[in-house]
Amino acid sequence: MRFDIITIFPEFFTGIFAHGVVKRALTNGLLQVELHDLRNFTRDRHRTVDDRPFGGGEGMVLKPEPLVEAVESLNIAAKAERDGQGESVVLLSAQGARFTQATARELATRDRVVLICGRYEGVDERVNELICDRELSIGDYVLSGGELGTAVIVDATMRLLPGVLGNEDSSAFESFGQPDEHFLNEAGGPRSTHGSGGILDYPHYTRPAEFRGLPVPEVLAGGDHAAIRRWRRERALEKTLKNRPDLLESSALSREDRAFLEKLRRAKP
Ligand code: SAM
Repeated sequence: MRFDIITIFPEFFTGIFAHGVVKRALTNGLLQVELHDLRNFTRDRHRTVDDRPFGGGEGMVLKPEPLVEAVESLNIAAKAERDGQGESVVLLSAQGARFTQATARELATRDRVVLICGRYEGVDERVNELICDRELSIGDYVLSGGELGTAVIVDATMRLLPGVLGNEDSSAFESFGQPDEHFLNEAGGPRSTHGSGGILDYPHYTRPAEFRGLPVPEVLAGGDHAAIRRWRRERALEKTLKNRPDLLESSALSREDRAFLEKLRRAKP
């Protein structure tokens, strides 16, 4: 999969993609990231990318010409000819639809995604109209530029590409993971040892068995896999109810899950 990033700060990404899973995916050729300096698409001596807003008001706005020309230089299909499958052009924007794990899963099916990083007060709206398929926001806050959001989108998406994580289950069996056809067992309980199906992950522990007076939960050292599975699922449900109750509405929940949640809710003071 290839990402093309259009930015006025290409050097911003130097360290970001030089570590861990992203670096490995780049080295293995599973991922390609191309950086494009927006200033290379300006025509004046000062390499101007911004201008004052029509209608007055604060700050500066990224001009449309360099951005549109930058995207056109990438040799991707014109907006009207994109089929919503192979190629996608994304504008990073606080006004965009929220980027979620589901969006990452969708982007991971594309061959090529162009990410446009805004700056200043934002981007001339005609860029969005003329060349972008969608606006994405990484959360309900305002950043000073689209670069951090772009890094988030590249990271979350590339780890879902086949072969990037050693174990394919790692990305299915984690927070926000989608249930697959094997998710529930015959008894209507989750099959795996994970906290997925749309809810948050369960808590993890490693050695030492006791740390600063806190022991690892006994069940995890007991070797009873059914008990471990049940314990992990219950902790994941507990955590989701506490931190992200909204996720429970769209998650795959078994009869056991629902009964456990009901018990938790009743026990709540
Ligand atoms: N005036 C804009 C508004 O109120 O929505 C904010 C512009 S912001 C200072 C500059 C750039 O940062 C945006 O054009 C966008 O590319 C990026 N940005 C800011 N917040 C973002 C977010 N939550 N998600 C993605 N990109 C964001």
